[in-house]
Amino acid sequence: MSRKKIIGRFAPSPTGRMHLGNVFSALISYLSAKSQGGEWVLRIEDLDRGRCKPEYIDLLKRDLEFLGLEWDRGGEGEWCQSARSEHYERALSMLEEKGLTYPCWCTRAELMAASAPHESDGRIIYPGTCRDNAERVALNAGRPAATRIMVPDEVIKLTDIHYGPQEVALASSCGDFILRRSDGAWAYQLAVVVDDALMGVTEVVRGRDLLLSAAQQLFLFNVLGYTAPSYCHFPLLCNSLGQRLSKRDAALDMGALRERYSAGEIISILAHYAGLLPSGGTDHSDTVQHNKIEPCTPQDLIPLFDWSKVPTKDIIVQVNDRMKRL
Ligand code: GLU
Repeated sequence: MSRKKIIGRFAPSPTGRMHLGNVFSALISYLSAKSQGGEWVLRIEDLDRGRCKPEYIDLLKRDLEFLGLEWDRGGEGEWCQSARSEHYERALSMLEEKGLTYPCWCTRAELMAASAPHESDGRIIYPGTCRDNAERVALNAGRPAATRIMVPDEVIKLTDIHYGPQEVALASSCGDFILRRSDGAWAYQLAVVVDDALMGVTEVVRGRDLLLSAAQQLFLFNVLGYTAPSYCHFPLLCNSLGQRLSKRDAALDMGALRERYSAGEIISILAHYAGLLPSGGTDHSDTVQHNKIEPCTPQDLIPLFDWSKVPTKDIIVQVNDRMKRL
């Protein structure tokens, strides 16, 4: 029996220049796929028309090429979510026909006001205001509505390859979630599932901040009748305040990094973070001294890659003297 070909993907949102955390995602997903003899595809998640810009797509591709992270397919045309509406349309119709969706007119402000305070990441758990609510339907007739999917009152179980078994009760973790916004924009959860399915993705490798999303996505895979990929999340790169790296950490975006480091040095730093290279004599296994960098290529790392080496704890990026000096 022939084994199914592994297809991994990198699915960046071109809302700015890639930062070190994005490059870490690219590298880990690349190495996971390539170490199994698989393909690595590039999907551009440019659904947010306001924030995504064509120039960021160009920069992203140039930065990946500079780093030696060459994708096998994708990066343009049908691999851009902005060109894939018809596929999302079809999936949404299927869910509508199954009676799993309903229109929602709640505004963000209403939801914020209604949500109970909880120590969270700012996520709103939808309280179900518009579900089975004929009054709201009558009241809002003719007004553009968002579309939500009804989540079942059951626990979704999945086994993440790196973080192990997960049990997520969607009803209490996120509630009925959005598939399409009232302005017509497709929601990430629907688009990502349709794309991973139609692009034949067999493994989803990304930061652990998307573990909850994996449960939402697995639920959608099942109701749409698609074969789900395996999920493999990895720890986040954080700044010294313990916050996930983001566009605000400008010192770590590719523009700034390329002024300070060669491609081989950037890959080498990330390989240390990923546990693939020894950490240069530092006492902390989750940090690396950037002044002891032996450049390497992504291809050098393929034979070294093993999930058992990758830490599960988030990684604090040390912006060290060399970074400040240059
Ligand atoms: N586009 C998402 C991001 O850049 C990644 C989504 C995914 O990997 O599923 O954060």
